[in-house]
Amino acid sequence: MNQGKLCLSVGAAVISADEVVAEPCQILIRDGRIEAVWRGGTTPAQIPVEYVRVQRPRAVAIPGLVNCHGHAAMTLLRGAGDDLPLQRWLEERIFPLEARLTGEAVYWGTLLACWEMIRSGTTCFTDMYMWMDDAARAVAESGLRGVLSWGIAASDPAGIDRAVATSRAFADRWHRAADGRITVTLGPHAPYTCSPECLRRVAELSAELNLPIQIHLSETWREVEECRAQFGRSPIAHALATGLLERPVLAAHCVHVDDDDIRILREKDVRVAHNPQSNLKLASGVAPVPKLLAEGVTVGLGTDGAASNNNLDMFEELRLAATLHKGVSGDATAVPAADALAMATSAGARAVFLPPGHGTLQPGAAADLVLLDLDSPHLTPGDNLVSDIVYAAGADDVTDVYVAGRCLLSNRELTTLDAERIRYEVRRIRQAMGAPGGA
Ligand SMILES: [Zn+2]
Repeated sequence: MNQGKLCLSVGAAVISADEVVAEPCQILIRDGRIEAVWRGGTTPAQIPVEYVRVQRPRAVAIPGLVNCHGHAAMTLLRGAGDDLPLQRWLEERIFPLEARLTGEAVYWGTLLACWEMIRSGTTCFTDMYMWMDDAARAVAESGLRGVLSWGIAASDPAGIDRAVATSRAFADRWHRAADGRITVTLGPHAPYTCSPECLRRVAELSAELNLPIQIHLSETWREVEECRAQFGRSPIAHALATGLLERPVLAAHCVHVDDDDIRILREKDVRVAHNPQSNLKLASGVAPVPKLLAEGVTVGLGTDGAASNNNLDMFEELRLAATLHKGVSGDATAVPAADALAMATSAGARAVFLPPGHGTLQPGAAADLVLLDLDSPHLTPGDNLVSDIVYAAGADDVTDVYVAGRCLLSNRELTTLDAERIRYEVRRIRQAMGAPGGA
């Protein structure tokens, strides 16, 4: 149901992290964009008759959440390798299972991720994985917005040529597809899985196709040490030296960064995806987010894959981003609620290279929005909506989700996906994959 003209009557609206309408209002949506937000009640005469009306007087509308880093089909590996450090987790559990993935598996795993994200209020997500045509097909069917990369891990000339050709073909097929909801980016996995020549070639391709890049940088201390030993510089200085940072780059993690790294991130306008839960679970550390924000670096929030989180619930990341940095710094003013909400919405949209206006409910912005049940006990009395959303709300409060004005969740019911079928297929596929060490 793609409604051209829609009028959403809600009890309140968070236009952006800095602007709240704490009274009933009418959100007019036209051709996938927010047309206007009218404050106060309304009479039929005020709203043109051709607008389809949706009454949600007990809901607060917020901009859809933007998940800035993840590997969607890793939902298939949820719970497959807990309580291990990153390198053992990858080598002993994740890589053996990933070797058994097929296009069909990635399709159903991505659909599961889409279901989970729609249910928890995410309207746009970032994905870096394999079998990406199948992932893109799932995104197209789900109605979500996706920023998709075919993961690149290559060091020898033939491998680099192959990876570049794969990404180029993927971009040809999917960039701006699904009514413009899909953005293709280039996805060199990390400096420790891509040679300097590979990073250089990716930068070249990025310039040629005018596509942004996403990469993991400085996730663990071990990565930084090994990069310094091998190249005599930090992963971020290394990315700079290869020319990668001359292009628009979204860097996931940036946990172990020093002042020189932060200066480079700022000067090159590198966007950072902060993944607090994944970094905690893999014991990678805590990114210096207050410092990054103070330096003016654009920071968005991400869940990372479901095997290292283990869910795709952005409300958890939101709350963790707003509390974790207070705990580690001893400063209760660190990452205030509005900053955290901006990271999950407007700054997140900027971080994943969406056009200006995304991640807000301002007129002209894409109509990507989420309704939360204002009657939930933990959202009562509801006097400070930004605080409530960051410190009290949860995925279960999400009742309705719209992307580009199209309803993907209506009164907690999926409108684009068949949940029963997804659950069945994912269980079947996961069972056939076997245990990490098994046959
Ligand atoms: Zn990742």
